[in-house]
Amino acid sequence: MRIFSGIQPTGSKHLGNYIGAIRQYVSGQDRGEAIYCIVDLHAITVPYDPADLRRSFYDLTALLLAAGLDPQRCILFRQGDVTEHSELCWLLCSVTELGRLQRMHQFRDKSLAQRELVSAGLLVYPVLQAADVLAYKTNEVPVGEDQREHLELTRDVARRFNQRFCGGEEVLIVPEHKIPEVGARIMDLQDPTRKMSTTGGSTEGTVHVLDEPETIAKKLRRAVTDSGTEIVRDPEKRGVTNLIEILAVSRGISPEQVEEEMKSARGYGDLKAATAEAVVEMLRPVRERYIELRSDEASLEAVLTDGASRAREIASATLAEVRDRMGVGAPGTLRGVA
Ligand code: ATP
Ligand code: MG
Repeated sequence: MRIFSGIQPTGSKHLGNYIGAIRQYVSGQDRGEAIYCIVDLHAITVPYDPADLRRSFYDLTALLLAAGLDPQRCILFRQGDVTEHSELCWLLCSVTELGRLQRMHQFRDKSLAQRELVSAGLLVYPVLQAADVLAYKTNEVPVGEDQREHLELTRDVARRFNQRFCGGEEVLIVPEHKIPEVGARIMDLQDPTRKMSTTGGSTEGTVHVLDEPETIAKKLRRAVTDSGTEIVRDPEKRGVTNLIEILAVSRGISPEQVEEEMKSARGYGDLKAATAEAVVEMLRPVRERYIELRSDEASLEAVLTDGASRAREIASATLAEVRDRMGVGAPGTLRGVA
């Protein structure tokens, strides 16, 4: 069973990424062959600073290792080091419907947020994401809820490729997504109608994995709730529902258990205090390990370089097969396959 997922190096990762994705990456190492990619080529689709991007690889690598990724048990690499992703993206563009890309929620949201330039990269992004996943003949993709639409596209691209070029044979594996039952969509604490986000979102409403404990507590204490008092999950009570889910995941219990415990609470203040304490405790060891790991950039680079060479072996074999099926390039020049 092969597991693959990608994560953006931009900015500092938040509680939504940790709960929706990173925790699943860690547990994936026990369930199959796990491959995780820091997606620098995705990060360049919105305005960015090249020097910041370079630094952010090491920030994120240290963070992922601190959270529990183990290079002995997974492949962790940087997307831009494995050029097969970009070529496969181009090839797969030929089996991707333009209208579908234009209708993607993420494209619509992120293009609206651009002041100067809506890059073509922002539109094509989901095809690169499909290439990322399909290059590894992935069975399962651990992601948050916001990626459901992109994964559906990936599945359709694989199916269309298999139909068009392989007579229906499953040459590109149609992957399944793995979205957590609780915490698949952590909401912004200041605006619980929007997901917590790396590039959008409010500063006060976003808890970063590496925030100081006092900062985390302050942000949670100030979380927007509603004027009621009942501590239950309800579509009308998005702020409270969000806190219940965060508390449940942070303590490793179910949301029902949280609701039960909170029956004796005096009000939302108790819920916020309990959530703050649980989140601080969950993230404390990650933050401590991060500080240790981040100081040694050479070791972090070594992890990524080694990961890239292991990833390339798999991706180049898939790419050779795709080129061959599509009739691209000189015949008999299959790269990576014997
Ligand atoms: P952006 O908002 O700029 O797209 P992001 O916060 O979504 O950034 P990504 O690197 O794109 O960060 O996402 C990494 C993983 O985190 C993805 O699997 C995504 O589904 C998951 N994720 C992102 N936000 C949340 C959230 N609020 N709750 C749960 N999972 C999330
Ligand atoms: Mg995202």
